[in-house]
Amino acid sequence: MGASAGDIAPTDRVEAYRRRFDAFLADEVAPVEEALAGRGAGTPWQPAKDAQGRMHPEVWEARREVQRRAGAAGLYSPHMSAAVGGGGLGRVEMHHVEEHVYRASGLGLGLAALGWTEGAAPPIEHASGAVLEQYVRPLVEGRITAAFANTEPGVGTDVLAMTTHARRDGTDWILNGHKAWITNAHFADVLQVVAVTEPGAGTRSLSMFLVDGAAPGLRRGPDIPTMIDDGLTGELELTDVRVPAEHVVGEIGGGFALAMGWINWRRLCRGGMCAGWGAWLLDRSVRRARTRMSGGRPIAELQAVQHLLADMDADVYAARATSLVAQAELDALGPFAIPLHRDAPRLVSLVKVVNDEAFQRVADRAVQVHGATGLLRGSPEEKLFRIARNLRIPAGTVEIQHNAIARSLLRAAAGADPDAGAAA
Ligand SMILES: Cc1cc2nc3c(=O)[nH]c(=O)nc-3n(C[C@H](O)[C@H](O)[C@H](O)COP(=O)(O)OP(=O)(O)OC[C@H]3O[C@@H](n4cnc5c(N)ncnc54)[C@H](O)[C@@H]3O)c2cc1C
Repeated sequence: MGASAGDIAPTDRVEAYRRRFDAFLADEVAPVEEALAGRGAGTPWQPAKDAQGRMHPEVWEARREVQRRAGAAGLYSPHMSAAVGGGGLGRVEMHHVEEHVYRASGLGLGLAALGWTEGAAPPIEHASGAVLEQYVRPLVEGRITAAFANTEPGVGTDVLAMTTHARRDGTDWILNGHKAWITNAHFADVLQVVAVTEPGAGTRSLSMFLVDGAAPGLRRGPDIPTMIDDGLTGELELTDVRVPAEHVVGEIGGGFALAMGWINWRRLCRGGMCAGWGAWLLDRSVRRARTRMSGGRPIAELQAVQHLLADMDADVYAARATSLVAQAELDALGPFAIPLHRDAPRLVSLVKVVNDEAFQRVADRAVQVHGATGLLRGSPEEKLFRIARNLRIPAGTVEIQHNAIARSLLRAAAGADPDAGAAA
């Protein structure tokens, strides 16, 4: 199914969001960012750490303040449905919103104004009953934060091999297991834990549970220091954690589809993120090239540097176009439908892999244009270079995106040509 050109244009709702976001940045974010500066807590993108290696509490609190203000202003969860208090925007609209937020914020505190890993994710809308008021609405409004706990120390890509399990005890569930590499493990008020409920049942073997951050038996480990150095990645140990039946998201056996919904949401967010940050890095590189002198003239006059800028532009443009067209097609298919349309995984993976790979080249060239300044610890170029390298692993590695794309191509070929069946 193809998207027509009109499908990718920003809507009036997007224009309204962008206007309101710009005012919010100036009126609500800037004072919080100014209050944070010079306090020894670091910056939003290079936070100091506490004794356990976690993000400095003042940086975390500044982010929380922005999240609460964005929630109150109705800016925090445009991606969630109106039924749970969100903005009800589609994926093309969200590409435009995300692109704007990343370009306007750069690496500043404004990024916290848009629900991200720690916010509400579309699959959580499958929760029901009291849980909607207890966790989902507060997440949508930025009043609490979440984490998604899928990966384990011994199991990343091979999700169905996970060992964290849940057993019934009356109407409750008892969870035991060990999760690792979890974003916002240190601070989350509620955890979306994926666990085995029916061993050997393949994609029906898993279920998703909402575990309260204060649940007895839940232990948070120390920070896992990665190259993005955010002080937010950690471990969780669950020892006989009791979870009531109403904390099951969706149905028992539906955890794999829900987890994929969460992961696909993060994959799709790569489009606006890389377009926004890519354009931001390109703007900075053009400015730098026009002012940095070599041999008595700006380096922007050197063809070698001009080609770096042109290559950056080509990558940003191509990845952005891929995202917009693929997300337009996904809007028509239902990007988070359960079951997911059979054509959707290829489109989701195209968005992730094309953007991840392009953004790494963009970030690398931005460092090159900046010379030694681009290598300076804590400079935007150095930080985004590390983030760009990171992006190719979480939410499914680039190899896994290639697998999904190839699987879809071969399946389609097998459908059209019975002789190709063996290769699929
Ligand atoms: C900063 C950060 C934040 C994260 N946040 C979260 C989070 O919030 N929640 C969460 O649950 N997880 C999170 N993760 C974990 C992340 O999702 C995993 O790291 C990722 O899925 C890859 O798993 P792995 O690291 O175990 O790599 P592995 O699965 O060990 O893969 C190693 C290599 O083998 C390749 N490989 C493995 N299997 C295949 C295959 N079948 N076909 C082809 N190649 C394959 C991979 O592509 C990769 O190159 C985070 C990770 C990082 C670094």
